[in-house]
Amino acid sequence: MIRYAINCAGGHRFEAWFASARSFDLQHESGAVACPECGVTDVEKALMAPALAASEKIQPVRLAANPPTEVAEAIRTIRKQLTDNAEYVGDRFATEARKIHFEETEKRGIYGEANSQDVRGLIEDGVEFHPLPALPEDHN
Ligand SMILES: [Zn+2]
Repeated sequence: MIRYAINCAGGHRFEAWFASARSFDLQHESGAVACPECGVTDVEKALMAPALAASEKIQPVRLAANPPTEVAEAIRTIRKQLTDNAEYVGDRFATEARKIHFEETEKRGIYGEANSQDVRGLIEDGVEFHPLPALPEDHN
């Protein structure tokens, strides 16, 4: 969903939600976007960046670099404990995590890979997951 600020020919300004930029264009062309105050369909998008729906807000990721050796060792231990007791599902992570969340399959620990779009989808669905702590050698 995208929220647009819209100006009408009568000088009013209002906001409306659209499924997409394309959706706004289609509705605008067919005269379906009317000013709620005066009803004119002679409207145009205000010159401002569209605000994203709250659920699309991108969460900042907290990062650390160059951990001391003993910290890297502790991370290595935590990672081993996480992965030793979990099933590796590779790029099916988002699918499997969602199935477990919605109790469509047995509850178990899993780990794998997901792209940023998948991650956002999981957050929107309220699926609980955590990034695996990264180690310096991951970037080699
Ligand atoms: Zn108006």
